[in-house]
Amino acid sequence: MRRGLERGVAGRTVAEVSVSHPRAVRRHLLGAQDFSDRLAGRTVLEARRRGKYLWLPLDSGDALTGHLGMSGQLLVVPGSSPPQKHLHVRIRFSDATSEQDRELRFVDQRTFGGLLVVPGGDPVPPLLAHIARDPLDPEFDDDRFVDALRRRRTELKRALLDQTLVSGIGNIYADETLWRAQLHGARPTDRLTRPAVRRLLGHARDVLAEAVLAGGTSFDALYVSTEGVSGLFEHSLNAYGREGQPCSRCGAPVRRESFMNRSSFSCPRCQPRPRAA
Ligand SMILES: [Zn+2]
Repeated sequence: MRRGLERGVAGRTVAEVSVSHPRAVRRHLLGAQDFSDRLAGRTVLEARRRGKYLWLPLDSGDALTGHLGMSGQLLVVPGSSPPQKHLHVRIRFSDATSEQDRELRFVDQRTFGGLLVVPGGDPVPPLLAHIARDPLDPEFDDDRFVDALRRRRTELKRALLDQTLVSGIGNIYADETLWRAQLHGARPTDRLTRPAVRRLLGHARDVLAEAVLAGGTSFDALYVSTEGVSGLFEHSLNAYGREGQPCSRCGAPVRRESFMNRSSFSCPRCQPRPRAA
């Protein structure tokens, strides 16, 4: 999605913003009018991402920031295309000379996501500075991650989902990473060796890189690129969502366990549960 935004809006100047659902900008505390005023006339410099947050640094020094929540979509579509059912924000650009020229739309069915304009955006808005880099970030510090993870007295999967430790790994990619590393998510982090954590990190990187290439993972039609296209990585999953199906490494049926109001999927043979301490 970040790549699509960069292609679609970097270098363009905002002409007009319309907010049709105030909930979509509720995190912009000064209100919808102020949100629009801070964007009008500003040029988008690039598109950046950390974890699930995306931001567009502007030539004003601010950044248009978005969180997609459970169902948010940022689409770059022709201005003439019909409004989506849950279209909340439209951003038109001054270089658009015809209705075929593309505009930026924020569409959100469940309205957990939202947009706001925040100060700073290069390299990261202060609002998002607490979110750790993701493993594909060129500045991700492997040694620091290995040390920090081993210092946590927690379970491995919880650590992988902890945004202050590492970002970009959600429930699906955590399960896929653990399956590849042949580790159960309940393993205590402080008992993993440094080489084991390094191998785990390598697997996380592979999973994320393959998922980005495939355009992400789309279990329902809400997870789409800026062109509205669903990702294909769900066809490459080895563990997540495969309860009862044979492990593609050993053939044992994949098991599902409940985990923090969600589910974890793993192979009972390749990823044995740790014995209670
Ligand atoms: Zn297996």
